[in-house]
Amino acid sequence: MKTSTNPYNGKQLHIFNELDDSELSKKIEVAHQRFQIWKRTSFVERSRLMLKVAEELKTNTDTYAKTITQEMGKPISQARAEVEKCAWVCEYYAENAEEQLQDEIVETDAEKSYVSYEPLGVVLAVMPWNYPFWQVFRFAAPNLIAGNVGVLKHASNVMQSAEMIERLFNKAGFPKGCFQNLVIGSEKIPSVLENDNVRAVTLTGSKPAGAAVASKAGEHIKKTVLELGGSNALIVFADADMDTEVDTCVKARFQNTGQSCIAGKRLLVQEDIADDFKQRFIDKIKELKSGDPMDGDTYIGVLAREDLAEDVEKQVQDSINMGATLEIGGKRKGTYYEPTVLSEVTPEMPMFKEETFGPAIGITTFTSDEEAVELSNDSAFGLGVSLFTEDVQRAKRLAPLFDEGAVFVNELVKSDPRLPFGGIKTSGYGRELSGHGIKEFMNRKTLYFK
Ligand code: NDP
Repeated sequence: MKTSTNPYNGKQLHIFNELDDSELSKKIEVAHQRFQIWKRTSFVERSRLMLKVAEELKTNTDTYAKTITQEMGKPISQARAEVEKCAWVCEYYAENAEEQLQDEIVETDAEKSYVSYEPLGVVLAVMPWNYPFWQVFRFAAPNLIAGNVGVLKHASNVMQSAEMIERLFNKAGFPKGCFQNLVIGSEKIPSVLENDNVRAVTLTGSKPAGAAVASKAGEHIKKTVLELGGSNALIVFADADMDTEVDTCVKARFQNTGQSCIAGKRLLVQEDIADDFKQRFIDKIKELKSGDPMDGDTYIGVLAREDLAEDVEKQVQDSINMGATLEIGGKRKGTYYEPTVLSEVTPEMPMFKEETFGPAIGITTFTSDEEAVELSNDSAFGLGVSLFTEDVQRAKRLAPLFDEGAVFVNELVKSDPRLPFGGIKTSGYGRELSGHGIKEFMNRKTLYFK
């Protein structure tokens, strides 16, 4: 049994019966049968249906946003933005997938040789709760348009969102079996991966979950894409435009109540401006409105589960015990954790070393470009980094030195359907979104005509 509970008021929203083994294998069989037909449908047809999905998301944004907010505590205005972004990714692939998956002619000694992209089959998506819709659409839009079919194992605390997404695809006219929600716990994932008809898996979540899924998939020689955690640095150089960049840094850390893999989690500030920047940063944080996530002007909601808030509390407290200074915040009440800033944070402290999945950030100072790069790279993760400087040449010179999946200059790291998204090191491998993401679960077939 899975229960969906509102983390803001503790009210139980829904109870779901889990699938038994026979129901689970039936659903995978339905997906596999659908794939045999779906892979032969045209891009025109698949795009038409995907545009219907986008239309439905745009028409009923509030309904979907409300469910997101109730299930995981995200402020309603940010939940609306999430739903709108899902519509965007559907539209983006409806417009671009066919061209992205065109045959690629390669000149060889053959009369004609080329690469064609063919879908693999049933793809399993193991998804987290932090963006209950976006994480799923980022997988589903490219894959369904490319001719794959999807089965979803969503995080246990957002099963209502999962069910809604399945209904949404059905309502838009996708044939039965193109997209199915599996109400199962993670202990059932090995049996799903053992099923011959499941050809690949994508997971977004923590490193332990990624490692468990990837090793099982490896046993069965199934392709994986892993989008795991991150601990992005926000690097503020002395020449940054402070008026603008303070706001960007606050947003980078505190939107989604800090629960994002690409959030800026380590604030590295050049010594010369550190005191001034810190003060402006704290002043902005004081303006962030905490409260009922259903209120339109709430910016800081609650964390999705109490254990997640406890984790952040511990990371902050342990860092203070190791010598960090508490500048603001630091208190927890149930699932709510106050926006928190620590200064004097050093690389061995949890606030620097670990992923902090909540509204808390540590400030570390640096003196030179080299030190900034070194501090930023001193992390097990490699998802992205933001550089704030007015000197474009410096940014260009430093960009190749970062061990990251992305470098954003004068902007927070953000996902965009047009750009590849993913990391290196323990942030995972493979890419989502753009022409790169859509090809991850395709057979790149070589054709050679002598
Ligand atoms: P998890 O990684 O445990 O959950 C993410 C998804 O993986 C869920 O669907 C979960 O299912 C599933 N899962 C968990 N363990 C396994 C397993 N062994 N085999 C197969 N599937 C599994 O994240 P948590 O919710 O526990 O959050 C813990 C931390 O993970 C966060 O504090 C954050 O650091 C990181 N995280 C990163 C995210 C990102 O966007 N990169 C998103 C969410 C979390 P179930 O819910 O049923 O356990």
